[in-house]
Amino acid sequence: MKNKLLIHACCAPCMVAVYDDTINNMDEINIDSFDTIWYNTNIHPKVEYEKRKDTYISYISKMGKKPIVLDEYDMNKFIYDVVNIDKTEFKLRCEYCYTSRLEKVFEYAKENGYTHVTTTLLISPYQKHDLIKKVCSKLANKYNVEFMYRDYRPLFREGQNKARELGLYRQKYCGCIYSIDEGRWQGI
Ligand code: SF4
Repeated sequence: MKNKLLIHACCAPCMVAVYDDTINNMDEINIDSFDTIWYNTNIHPKVEYEKRKDTYISYISKMGKKPIVLDEYDMNKFIYDVVNIDKTEFKLRCEYCYTSRLEKVFEYAKENGYTHVTTTLLISPYQKHDLIKKVCSKLANKYNVEFMYRDYRPLFREGQNKARELGLYRQKYCGCIYSIDEGRWQGI
């Protein structure tokens, strides 16, 4: 059976180094082909969502691939869910956020014959890395699709520099309405 990887893109700048790493290490990671997918429903405000989505589409298209886009935007649902979050299931808002986004990606992978899933969220030192790993491992079991874990963080700076050179739009906060007030990322 061929190994097909689906890479969840949180944004284009984080995709740059993950994309290069995947292309350059196909043998090592034992992947025959890969695609990328956009699914980030809670980026605030909507114009910011569109900007990040369009940057992703343009970057992946330039790389010669067809970008997969699940174009769902639902900030209201996200806020409602966060307020009413089941604290026994999700200890943190970000855990709910990762789960809701990545569950859709695993579901898509299962339905479309992908054998492996990973996410560009694993490259950012600003993200909750271990929590992402935990969420992906859980979803991998649920959907019987392998989670391809790689610690991309050492590639973060290099990827951001390349994104800057390519003139890609680079955001200064994680995405949701809460993250705007939680402090701007430094040195991006
Ligand atoms: S800070 Fe980022 S990971 Fe956490 S809930 Fe907001 S968008 Fe999701």
